[in-house]
Amino acid sequence: MHIQTAAVQTLRDFEHGAVVPPVHLASTFELDPATEDGAFAYQRGSNPTRAQLETVLAALDDAAHGFAFASGMAATAAALSTLEVGDEVILSASVYGGTYRLVDLVLPGRGITGRFVDDLDALTDEDFTPATKAVFIETPANPTLRITDLRRIAELAHRHGALVIVDNTFMTPVLQKPLALGADVVVQSATKYLAGHSDLLAGTVTTNDDRLADAYRLAQKAQGGVLPPQDSFRLIQSIKTLPLRLERQQASAERIVEHLADHDRIAQLWYPGLHSEEEARVHASQASGRGAVLSFELAGGLDRVAFLKALRFPAYAVSLGGVESLICRPATMTHEAMTPEARANAGISDEMLRLSVGIEHVDDLIADLDQALAAAG
Ligand SMILES: *Cc1c(COP(=O)(O)O)cnc(C)c1O
Repeated sequence: MHIQTAAVQTLRDFEHGAVVPPVHLASTFELDPATEDGAFAYQRGSNPTRAQLETVLAALDDAAHGFAFASGMAATAAALSTLEVGDEVILSASVYGGTYRLVDLVLPGRGITGRFVDDLDALTDEDFTPATKAVFIETPANPTLRITDLRRIAELAHRHGALVIVDNTFMTPVLQKPLALGADVVVQSATKYLAGHSDLLAGTVTTNDDRLADAYRLAQKAQGGVLPPQDSFRLIQSIKTLPLRLERQQASAERIVEHLADHDRIAQLWYPGLHSEEEARVHASQASGRGAVLSFELAGGLDRVAFLKALRFPAYAVSLGGVESLICRPATMTHEAMTPEARANAGISDEMLRLSVGIEHVDDLIADLDQALAAAG
Protein backbone atom coordinates (compact mmCIF):
# COMPACT_ATOMS: atom_id res chain seq x y z
CA MET A 1 0.00 0.00 0.00
CA HIS A 2 1.32 3.48 -0.82
CA ILE A 3 1.92 5.74 2.17
CA GLN A 4 -0.66 8.26 0.90
CA THR A 5 -3.27 5.50 1.22
CA ALA A 6 -1.96 4.10 4.52
CA ALA A 7 -2.08 7.60 6.08
CA VAL A 8 -5.83 7.78 5.39
CA GLN A 9 -7.09 4.16 5.27
CA THR A 10 -5.25 2.29 8.07
CA LEU A 11 -8.08 2.87 10.56
CA ARG A 12 -11.55 1.70 9.41
CA ASP A 13 -14.92 0.41 10.58
CA PHE A 14 -15.80 2.47 13.63
CA GLU A 15 -18.92 2.21 15.80
CA HIS A 16 -22.13 3.58 14.21
CA GLY A 17 -20.47 3.55 10.78
CA ALA A 18 -18.49 6.68 11.65
CA VAL A 19 -15.71 7.31 9.13
CA VAL A 20 -13.34 8.79 11.69
CA PRO A 21 -12.40 7.19 15.03
CA PRO A 22 -13.95 8.33 18.32
CA VAL A 23 -11.85 9.95 21.06
CA HIS A 24 -11.81 7.88 24.26
CA LEU A 25 -11.03 10.16 27.19
CA ALA A 26 -11.42 7.59 30.00
CA SER A 27 -8.47 7.41 32.37
CA THR A 28 -9.67 4.06 33.72
CA PHE A 29 -11.55 1.04 32.31
CA GLU A 30 -13.83 -1.55 33.96
CA LEU A 31 -12.38 -5.04 34.33
CA ASP A 32 -14.19 -8.38 34.52
CA PRO A 33 -14.12 -9.24 38.28
CA ALA A 34 -13.80 -12.96 37.51
CA THR A 35 -10.82 -12.80 35.15
CA GLU A 36 -9.68 -9.23 35.99
CA ASP A 37 -9.08 -8.98 32.24
CA GLY A 38 -9.87 -6.15 29.89
CA ALA A 39 -8.43 -4.78 26.65
CA PHE A 40 -7.58 -1.57 28.52
CA ALA A 41 -7.10 -0.89 32.24
CA TYR A 42 -5.58 2.56 32.75
CA GLN A 43 -4.83 5.36 30.30
CA ARG A 44 -1.07 5.54 30.95
CA GLY A 45 -0.54 1.89 30.07
CA SER A 46 -2.72 2.04 26.98
CA ASN A 47 -5.93 3.59 25.74
CA PRO A 48 -8.04 3.05 22.63
CA THR A 49 -7.25 6.37 20.94
CA ARG A 50 -3.49 6.20 21.49
CA ALA A 51 -3.57 2.54 20.40
CA GLN A 52 -5.20 3.61 17.12
CA LEU A 53 -2.55 6.24 16.52
CA GLU A 54 0.15 3.66 17.31
CA THR A 55 -1.37 1.35 14.68
CA VAL A 56 -1.07 4.16 12.13
CA LEU A 57 2.52 4.96 13.18
CA ALA A 58 3.52 1.32 12.71
CA ALA A 59 1.77 1.17 9.33
CA LEU A 60 3.60 4.27 8.04
CA ASP A 61 7.01 2.78 8.87
CA ASP A 62 6.04 -0.80 7.85
CA ALA A 63 6.90 -1.63 11.49
CA ALA A 64 5.58 -4.27 13.87
CA HIS A 65 5.27 -1.81 16.77
CA GLY A 66 4.51 1.90 17.18
CA PHE A 67 4.55 4.05 20.31
CA ALA A 68 3.34 7.58 20.92
CA PHE A 69 4.99 9.83 23.50
CA ALA A 70 4.30 13.29 24.90
CA SER A 71 7.19 14.85 22.94
CA GLY A 72 10.03 14.00 20.60
CA MET A 73 12.40 14.16 23.57
CA ALA A 74 10.27 11.71 25.57
CA ALA A 75 10.46 9.39 22.54
CA THR A 76 14.23 9.84 22.26
CA ALA A 77 14.64 9.21 26.00
CA ALA A 78 12.56 6.04 25.65
CA ALA A 79 14.64 4.88 22.67
CA LEU A 80 17.80 5.32 24.77
CA SER A 81 16.20 3.70 27.84
CA THR A 82 17.67 0.27 27.08
CA LEU A 83 21.18 1.61 27.78
CA GLU A 84 22.64 0.67 31.17
CA VAL A 85 25.47 1.76 33.49
CA GLY A 86 28.78 1.52 31.65
CA ASP A 87 27.24 1.63 28.17
CA GLU A 88 28.20 4.07 25.45
CA VAL A 89 26.20 5.59 22.59
CA ILE A 90 27.89 7.08 19.53
CA LEU A 91 26.21 10.14 18.00
CA SER A 92 26.97 12.54 15.22
CA ALA A 93 28.28 15.92 16.42
CA SER A 94 25.52 17.55 14.37
CA VAL A 95 22.47 16.32 16.24
CA TYR A 96 19.29 18.01 17.50
CA GLY A 97 20.18 20.35 20.39
CA GLY A 98 17.73 18.67 22.78
CA THR A 99 19.26 15.26 22.08
CA TYR A 100 22.69 16.78 22.77
CA ARG A 101 21.34 18.16 26.08
CA LEU A 102 19.94 14.74 27.11
CA VAL A 103 23.19 12.95 26.27
CA ASP A 104 25.41 15.69 27.73
CA LEU A 105 23.55 16.47 30.97
CA VAL A 106 21.28 13.53 31.86
CA LEU A 107 22.81 10.25 30.63
CA PRO A 108 26.20 10.71 32.41
CA GLY A 109 24.35 10.72 35.76
CA ARG A 110 23.05 7.26 34.85
CA GLY A 111 26.55 6.02 34.02
CA ILE A 112 25.98 6.21 30.25
CA THR A 113 28.51 7.93 27.99
CA GLY A 114 27.66 9.77 24.78
CA ARG A 115 30.51 9.95 22.27
CA PHE A 116 30.05 12.62 19.61
CA VAL A 117 31.91 12.09 16.35
CA ASP A 118 32.36 14.73 13.65
CA ASP A 119 31.59 12.42 10.76
CA LEU A 120 29.63 9.18 11.22
CA ASP A 121 30.64 8.14 7.71
CA ALA A 122 34.25 7.91 8.92
CA LEU A 123 33.20 5.38 11.60
CA THR A 124 35.13 2.05 11.42
CA ASP A 125 35.36 -1.18 13.43
CA GLU A 126 38.06 0.43 15.62
CA ASP A 127 35.54 2.97 16.93
CA PHE A 128 33.48 0.25 18.62
CA THR A 129 34.33 -1.05 22.09
CA PRO A 130 32.46 -3.70 24.09
CA ALA A 131 30.72 -0.76 25.84
CA THR A 132 29.29 0.62 22.57
CA LYS A 133 25.63 -0.38 22.66
CA ALA A 134 24.04 2.07 20.25
CA VAL A 135 24.63 4.46 17.37
CA PHE A 136 22.22 7.39 17.17
CA ILE A 137 21.85 8.96 13.72
CA GLU A 138 20.10 11.93 12.16
CA THR A 139 20.25 11.88 8.38
CA PRO A 140 19.89 14.54 7.08
CA ALA A 141 21.43 16.02 10.24
CA ASN A 142 19.97 19.09 11.88
CA PRO A 143 20.82 21.85 10.87
CA THR A 144 23.74 21.01 8.55
CA LEU A 145 21.69 18.57 6.42
CA ARG A 146 24.75 16.28 6.23
CA ILE A 147 24.03 12.70 5.13
CA THR A 148 24.97 9.41 6.79
CA ASP A 149 24.95 6.07 4.97
CA LEU A 150 22.34 4.14 6.97
CA ARG A 151 22.98 0.73 5.39
CA ARG A 152 26.72 0.94 6.07
CA ILE A 153 26.33 2.07 9.70
CA ALA A 154 23.70 -0.62 10.36
CA GLU A 155 26.03 -3.33 9.09
CA LEU A 156 28.97 -1.94 11.07
CA ALA A 157 27.01 -1.46 14.32
CA HIS A 158 25.36 -4.87 14.12
CA ARG A 159 28.77 -6.54 13.73
CA HIS A 160 29.51 -5.14 17.19
CA GLY A 161 26.12 -5.88 18.72
CA ALA A 162 25.13 -2.20 18.85
CA LEU A 163 21.63 -0.89 18.15
CA VAL A 164 21.01 1.63 15.38
CA ILE A 165 18.55 4.37 16.36
CA VAL A 166 17.54 6.87 13.67
CA ASP A 167 15.88 10.22 14.34
CA ASN A 168 13.79 10.49 11.16
CA THR A 169 12.07 13.79 11.99
CA PHE A 170 13.37 15.64 8.91
CA MET A 171 12.36 12.94 6.40
CA THR A 172 9.32 11.20 7.95
CA PRO A 173 8.33 7.78 6.55
CA VAL A 174 7.07 9.61 3.45
CA LEU A 175 10.67 10.16 2.29
CA GLN A 176 12.76 7.62 4.21
CA LYS A 177 12.14 4.31 6.00
CA PRO A 178 15.19 3.56 8.14
CA LEU A 179 13.90 0.19 9.44
CA ALA A 180 13.96 -1.14 5.87
CA LEU A 181 17.58 0.05 5.57
CA GLY A 182 18.71 -1.90 8.65
CA ALA A 183 17.97 0.45 11.57
CA ASP A 184 16.54 -1.12 14.73
CA VAL A 185 14.56 1.84 16.00
CA VAL A 186 13.11 5.03 14.50
CA VAL A 187 12.21 8.06 16.59
CA GLN A 188 10.49 11.20 15.38
CA SER A 189 9.48 14.49 16.82
CA ALA A 190 5.86 14.33 15.63
CA THR A 191 5.67 17.98 16.71
CA LYS A 192 7.19 18.74 13.30
CA TYR A 193 5.90 17.22 10.03
CA LEU A 194 3.52 14.59 11.46
CA ALA A 195 1.50 17.17 13.39
CA GLY A 196 2.36 19.77 10.76
CA HIS A 197 0.52 22.81 12.12
CA SER A 198 2.79 24.05 14.93
CA ASP A 199 0.06 23.36 17.50
CA LEU A 200 0.90 19.98 19.03
CA LEU A 201 3.84 18.42 20.91
CA ALA A 202 4.34 14.68 20.33
CA GLY A 203 6.95 12.00 19.71
CA THR A 204 6.98 8.55 18.13
CA VAL A 205 9.01 5.35 18.29
CA THR A 206 8.73 2.44 15.85
CA THR A 207 10.53 -0.90 15.74
CA ASN A 208 10.24 -4.45 14.44
CA ASP A 209 12.04 -5.89 17.48
CA ASP A 210 9.68 -7.48 20.05
CA ARG A 211 12.20 -7.20 22.89
CA LEU A 212 12.79 -3.50 22.25
CA ALA A 213 9.03 -3.01 21.96
CA ASP A 214 8.67 -4.42 25.50
CA ALA A 215 11.22 -1.86 26.72
CA TYR A 216 9.36 1.05 25.07
CA ARG A 217 6.05 -0.18 26.48
CA LEU A 218 7.73 -0.20 29.89
CA ALA A 219 9.04 3.34 29.28
CA GLN A 220 5.46 4.47 28.62
CA LYS A 221 4.06 2.74 31.67
CA ALA A 222 6.92 3.31 34.13
CA GLN A 223 8.07 6.81 33.10
CA GLY A 224 4.65 8.02 32.02
CA GLY A 225 5.56 10.45 29.23
CA VAL A 226 2.66 9.30 27.04
CA LEU A 227 0.56 11.19 24.49
CA PRO A 228 -2.96 12.08 25.77
CA PRO A 229 -6.06 10.87 23.85
CA GLN A 230 -7.05 14.28 22.44
CA ASP A 231 -3.55 14.85 21.08
CA SER A 232 -3.48 11.27 19.76
CA PHE A 233 -6.68 11.97 17.85
CA ARG A 234 -5.32 15.24 16.46
CA LEU A 235 -2.18 13.45 15.29
CA ILE A 236 -4.27 10.76 13.56
CA GLN A 237 -6.05 13.61 11.77
CA SER A 238 -2.87 15.50 10.80
CA ILE A 239 -1.12 12.41 9.48
CA LYS A 240 -3.81 12.05 6.79
CA THR A 241 -2.42 15.13 5.00
CA LEU A 242 1.26 14.49 5.81
CA PRO A 243 2.20 13.14 2.36
CA LEU A 244 0.38 16.00 0.59
CA ARG A 245 1.88 18.69 2.80
CA LEU A 246 5.42 17.34 2.61
CA GLU A 247 5.31 16.87 -1.17
CA ARG A 248 4.34 20.53 -1.60
CA GLN A 249 6.81 21.78 1.01
CA GLN A 250 9.63 19.81 -0.60
CA ALA A 251 8.82 21.07 -4.12
CA SER A 252 8.92 24.64 -2.80
CA ALA A 253 12.18 24.01 -0.90
CA GLU A 254 13.79 22.68 -4.11
CA ARG A 255 12.74 25.87 -5.93
CA ILE A 256 14.09 28.10 -3.12
CA VAL A 257 17.42 26.22 -3.05
CA GLU A 258 17.72 26.67 -6.81
CA HIS A 259 16.99 30.39 -6.42
CA LEU A 260 19.45 30.96 -3.55
CA ALA A 261 22.22 28.80 -5.07
CA ASP A 262 23.40 31.54 -7.38
CA HIS A 263 22.21 34.53 -5.36
CA ASP A 264 25.03 37.04 -4.81
CA ARG A 265 23.71 37.83 -1.32
CA ILE A 266 24.00 34.22 -0.10
CA ALA A 267 27.44 33.04 1.09
CA GLN A 268 26.65 29.41 1.83
CA LEU A 269 23.78 27.00 1.40
CA TRP A 270 23.06 23.68 3.12
CA TYR A 271 20.58 21.12 1.72
CA PRO A 272 20.75 17.31 1.51
CA GLY A 273 23.34 16.23 -1.05
CA LEU A 274 24.86 19.69 -1.56
CA HIS A 275 27.91 18.88 0.58
CA SER A 276 29.38 16.34 -1.86
CA GLU A 277 28.51 14.09 -4.77
CA GLU A 278 29.04 11.09 -2.50
CA GLU A 279 26.46 12.39 0.00
CA ALA A 280 24.05 13.12 -2.85
CA ARG A 281 24.44 9.54 -4.10
CA VAL A 282 23.98 8.02 -0.63
CA HIS A 283 20.94 10.17 0.11
CA ALA A 284 19.32 9.27 -3.22
CA SER A 285 19.90 5.58 -2.45
CA GLN A 286 18.12 5.71 0.93
CA ALA A 287 15.49 8.45 0.62
CA SER A 288 13.00 9.43 -2.06
CA GLY A 289 13.42 13.19 -1.61
CA ARG A 290 15.48 15.93 0.00
CA GLY A 291 12.86 17.34 2.34
CA ALA A 292 11.82 20.90 3.07
CA VAL A 293 14.46 22.28 5.44
CA LEU A 294 17.46 24.23 4.20
CA SER A 295 20.08 26.36 5.90
CA PHE A 296 22.00 29.35 4.55
CA GLU A 297 24.33 32.13 5.53
CA LEU A 298 24.14 35.71 4.25
CA ALA A 299 27.06 37.12 2.29
CA GLY A 300 29.64 39.04 4.35
CA GLY A 301 28.72 42.60 5.22
CA LEU A 302 24.97 41.98 5.17
CA ASP A 303 22.96 42.70 8.31
CA ARG A 304 21.33 39.49 9.61
CA VAL A 305 18.95 41.33 11.95
CA ALA A 306 17.82 43.69 9.18
CA PHE A 307 17.20 40.67 6.92
CA LEU A 308 15.16 38.85 9.56
CA LYS A 309 13.16 41.97 10.46
CA ALA A 310 12.36 42.60 6.79
CA LEU A 311 10.97 39.08 6.24
CA ARG A 312 7.20 39.18 5.99
CA PHE A 313 6.36 35.46 6.04
CA PRO A 314 8.77 33.10 7.77
CA ALA A 315 8.31 33.74 11.50
CA TYR A 316 11.56 33.94 13.46
CA ALA A 317 10.92 30.89 15.64
CA VAL A 318 12.35 27.46 16.46
CA SER A 319 10.68 24.28 15.19
CA LEU A 320 9.93 23.14 11.65
CA GLY A 321 7.58 21.08 9.56
CA GLY A 322 4.49 23.27 9.99
CA VAL A 323 2.33 24.57 7.17
CA GLU A 324 3.74 28.04 7.88
CA SER A 325 7.36 28.78 7.01
CA LEU A 326 9.70 29.34 9.97
CA ILE A 327 13.26 30.62 10.17
CA CYS A 328 15.68 30.38 13.07
CA ARG A 329 19.31 30.80 14.03
CA PRO A 330 20.55 27.39 15.27
CA ALA A 331 23.63 28.69 17.15
CA THR A 332 21.53 30.75 19.58
CA MET A 333 18.19 28.94 19.37
CA THR A 334 17.87 25.21 18.61
CA HIS A 335 21.53 24.39 19.30
CA GLU A 336 22.36 26.76 22.16
CA ALA A 337 22.81 23.77 24.50
CA MET A 338 25.99 22.86 22.60
CA THR A 339 29.32 24.46 23.51
CA PRO A 340 30.82 26.79 20.85
CA GLU A 341 33.47 24.09 20.20
CA ALA A 342 30.81 21.40 19.74
CA ARG A 343 28.97 23.65 17.28
CA ALA A 344 32.20 24.38 15.39
CA ASN A 345 32.94 20.62 15.18
CA ALA A 346 29.43 20.03 13.87
CA GLY A 347 29.83 22.75 11.23
CA ILE A 348 27.16 25.03 12.72
CA SER A 349 28.32 28.61 12.18
CA ASP A 350 27.07 31.53 14.30
CA GLU A 351 25.52 33.17 11.24
CA MET A 352 23.75 30.08 9.86
CA LEU A 353 19.97 30.48 9.42
CA ARG A 354 17.66 27.47 9.08
CA LEU A 355 14.53 27.78 6.98
CA SER A 356 11.59 25.38 7.24
CA VAL A 357 9.52 25.81 4.09
CA GLY A 358 5.72 25.81 4.56
CA ILE A 359 2.85 25.41 2.12
CA GLU A 360 2.55 29.11 1.14
CA HIS A 361 2.87 29.75 -2.61
CA VAL A 362 6.55 29.43 -3.45
CA ASP A 363 6.56 32.61 -5.56
CA ASP A 364 5.46 34.60 -2.50
CA LEU A 365 8.21 33.01 -0.40
CA ILE A 366 10.91 33.73 -3.01
CA ALA A 367 9.73 37.32 -3.45
CA ASP A 368 9.80 37.75 0.32
CA LEU A 369 13.34 36.35 0.64
CA ASP A 370 14.49 38.62 -2.20
CA GLN A 371 13.08 41.81 -0.73
CA ALA A 372 14.51 40.95 2.72
CA LEU A 373 17.94 40.20 1.18
CA ALA A 374 17.78 43.55 -0.57
CA ALA A 375 16.91 45.23 2.74
CA ALA A 376 19.88 43.60 4.51
CA GLY A 377 22.35 46.27 3.44
C1 LIG B 1 12.25 18.96 17.54
C2 LIG B 1 13.15 17.79 17.40
C3 LIG B 1 13.28 16.85 18.42
C4 LIG B 1 12.58 17.00 19.76
O1 LIG B 1 11.21 16.92 19.63
P1 LIG B 1 10.16 17.64 20.64
O2 LIG B 1 8.85 17.21 20.10
O3 LIG B 1 10.42 19.12 20.54
O4 LIG B 1 10.45 17.13 22.01
C5 LIG B 1 14.09 15.75 18.20
N1 LIG B 1 14.74 15.60 17.03
C6 LIG B 1 14.66 16.49 16.03
C7 LIG B 1 15.41 16.26 14.77
C8 LIG B 1 13.86 17.62 16.18
O5 LIG B 1 13.80 18.51 15.18
